[in-house]
Amino acid sequence: MNNPYEHAVTQLKLVAEKLRPQYEDKNRFDAAITLLSKPTQLLTENLTIIMDDGTTQSFEAYRSQHSNARGPYKGGIRFHQDVSEEEVKALSMWMSWKTAVADIPYGGSKGGIIVDPKKLSTSELQRLSRAYVRFLGTNVGPWIDVPAPDVNTTPEIMAWMSDEYEKMQEENETEHLQNPLAAFTGKPLDLGGSEGRAEATGLGGVYVLEELAKRNGWNRKKDITIAIQGFGNVGYWFAHHADKLGYRVVAVSDSKSGIYVETGLDPAKTLECKKATGKISECACDNKHCDISLGKEISNEELLTLDVDVLVPAALENVITAENAKLIKAKTIIEMANGPTTPEADAILEKRGIMVVPDILANSGGVSTSYFEWVQNLSGTHWSKTEVLDKLQPLMVSAFEKTWNMHEKTGDALRLSAYQVAVKRVIDSLLLRGKI
Ligand code: NAD
Repeated sequence: MNNPYEHAVTQLKLVAEKLRPQYEDKNRFDAAITLLSKPTQLLTENLTIIMDDGTTQSFEAYRSQHSNARGPYKGGIRFHQDVSEEEVKALSMWMSWKTAVADIPYGGSKGGIIVDPKKLSTSELQRLSRAYVRFLGTNVGPWIDVPAPDVNTTPEIMAWMSDEYEKMQEENETEHLQNPLAAFTGKPLDLGGSEGRAEATGLGGVYVLEELAKRNGWNRKKDITIAIQGFGNVGYWFAHHADKLGYRVVAVSDSKSGIYVETGLDPAKTLECKKATGKISECACDNKHCDISLGKEISNEELLTLDVDVLVPAALENVITAENAKLIKAKTIIEMANGPTTPEADAILEKRGIMVVPDILANSGGVSTSYFEWVQNLSGTHWSKTEVLDKLQPLMVSAFEKTWNMHEKTGDALRLSAYQVAVKRVIDSLLLRGKI
């Protein structure tokens, strides 16, 4: 099934079947599921901007606001040539489940523009970002919908967007009761961004790893081997914190290739070497030096099928497929990327007894720290990195425990268990509000 929105609706129906027996009033339950099967509001517009050469160009833009039953809509903005209405709708639904499983007071939304940002100059990109905020108009704001960065959108873009939002407020002379900076998260530190945001997603995944270790009796961490696909923001910080706690990170990769070091690699040295040489495959590094004789080059496909304890996809969607799921040797997968496992692969992994910690739980450290940024902006405070990361751990542990308990109670895989926790919370909020 290639349509992500159809995939998201199928998942919802599956969870609905599980939850329905728990609700006395079946009519209201069914009405809630019908409501949650589509976004509350889908905004689309063709944004026209003036290019540097004086010509004009138009770009299709979307914002899907799925549910605000639990709090303001929350979700990133993606700038990519493959953005589509169906993708944005699916991602907004998944955001509702992610914020619910993390138990933060947000709903779910997602936005995007069909554009290859590499083809735009910085000033064109800025005009497009500002045009996007104008398009959102009164549909964005600290208590309405709080966007964040996603694929190809950066803290700098969030800074332009916050600035445009503030300008709009001034023009409309709307009340300035809220800090306008709280309308966007993922901002630069100098403009209301949060300490710890960069490493939060990777670290949140390591808190999940620690919970698994407790339950699996992984006492000698040096014996637990980990392979990570993707050595960007999420992959690097996952590697860094796992290594710091004593786990053995044996392989990492980027879009070009990967490196395998049986005795365990040093993430900081590997990153330093990758920056210097541009080739991760040359970076077999322990904590003293890098020397290719310490390890060997591997391909991305080889990384996925390594004989390790934990496999961490932290790059792209749809990398674990029906073809390679049969070959995976890891007993545990922690999904740090969004949607790395196809539904067909998921079924194969479950049959093979491979435990998959789903993306909505494993990578929720990112949106949780966005929530901390919003809280700091609204209250006019600035927390230290230690304060931020100390608040993240109990949130991640609690989300994991709720999911694990559901898994133990029902015998369902962790993905279906996390969805049951999340969807139930959203439905209960709708019922409490008397919306249906
Ligand atoms: P990033 O751009 O910093 O890093 C991506 C990494 O993946 C890079 O090392 C890149 O070389 C590698 N990569 C690209 N194509 C690849 C391929 N074909 N094979 C193997 N590696 C490839 O991105 P990121 O912020 O680390 O995000 C990674 C994933 O995590 C994405 O799916 C993203 O949606 C998800 N995620 C990120 C955050 C966050 O806070 N950054 C939060 C939640 C989820």
